[in-house]
Amino acid sequence: MLDVKFNIRQVARTLSLVENRRPESHAILRAAYKAGRHVPVIGVTGPPGAGKSTLLDRLALHWAEQGEQVAVIAIDPSSPYTGGAVLGDRFRMDRASAHPRVFVRSLSSRGHVGGLSRAVQDVVVVMAAQGFERILVETVGSGQADVEVATLADCVIVVSVPGLGDQIQAGKAGILEIGDVYAVNKSDLPGAGTFAAFLEANLDLIYPGRPGVNQGGQRAGQERAYANAVLHRRHGNAGTDESFWRPPVVSVCALQGDSTEALCRVVEGFLSWQRATGRDGSRRAERFQDHIRRLASGRLLAQPLPAGAGPSLPQLADAVAQGEMTPWEAAEIFLDALSEAWLRREGTVADPVARSAED
Ligand code: GDP
Repeated sequence: MLDVKFNIRQVARTLSLVENRRPESHAILRAAYKAGRHVPVIGVTGPPGAGKSTLLDRLALHWAEQGEQVAVIAIDPSSPYTGGAVLGDRFRMDRASAHPRVFVRSLSSRGHVGGLSRAVQDVVVVMAAQGFERILVETVGSGQADVEVATLADCVIVVSVPGLGDQIQAGKAGILEIGDVYAVNKSDLPGAGTFAAFLEANLDLIYPGRPGVNQGGQRAGQERAYANAVLHRRHGNAGTDESFWRPPVVSVCALQGDSTEALCRVVEGFLSWQRATGRDGSRRAERFQDHIRRLASGRLLAQPLPAGAGPSLPQLADAVAQGEMTPWEAAEIFLDALSEAWLRREGTVADPVARSAED
């Protein structure tokens, strides 16, 4: 018998309040953050057409069939150009969304002044507090915003396919540094094997070891190839005696469901290794640091400068345009004026959650 814990209408209503930053959302967010419940968040990213929705459908179903309550957040890539018209076309989640333990929610990338990643972060925390046991986030591989959203996840699956011209671009844009697991989809198409080998070779340039968990204490030469501090933090350092993770490449055919179970096992393997080494906690801490930093800088920059506090932003911009100062010097002056104004400000912040929610 299926065990469905949720009143889906209620969940949907709560999320709408949070997304639309309604006054009621402050209490919901406060309670959700204070609940401090953490569940695995899996980010799926890759270029449009790579088969992310099709793959997500398989992954969500897999975990739902294991008995988990699964939430899927699909980022609607609405842009001023398409007006969101691509959305219907993108969602190929028919099977999973019909499953009583899968809840699919789309989130528009428009209108989030505080940044899309912040909106996703809030929705993730609210979903976790409501009792979902696993959250999948799908994003469209289209630049920095996407990378940001991907890094909100505990495990990032980068989906690519053979024959897309932008694969090399993706490599240049740092895609090879954001994945914990790489899925080569459409393994039924020609060129999939060659492309998977190409990805493996590129990962070999960055990581030593075999795909998956490796024992540390690797040779010095390999250590050098693996000198990226961010990757050390996330995946461990081959130069130490601790274990480290080398992202595996898994070839799948989402359309037929070939090897998608294997992909789920690899993701589980990564999450277990991450938990066992305490890296889940440090990754989360890094995420919240980033979140706090953004909130703090947003609040600081929104601070009105009182008359006489120093040159205004337009004046500073003018000075830079006239060649009177560099942007670094201008930023320094601006910061000095801001901190001066901040120190002199009167009154206290009655409800910081309410204040920041309105930013
Ligand atoms: P997304 O834009 O990345 O979400 O991609 P979709 O999931 O919408 O899939 C784009 C197209 O690729 C659709 O026509 C899918 O049916 C097709 N597709 C997805 N997975 C596979 C696969 O494994 N093999 C083949 N041949 N086509 C696939």
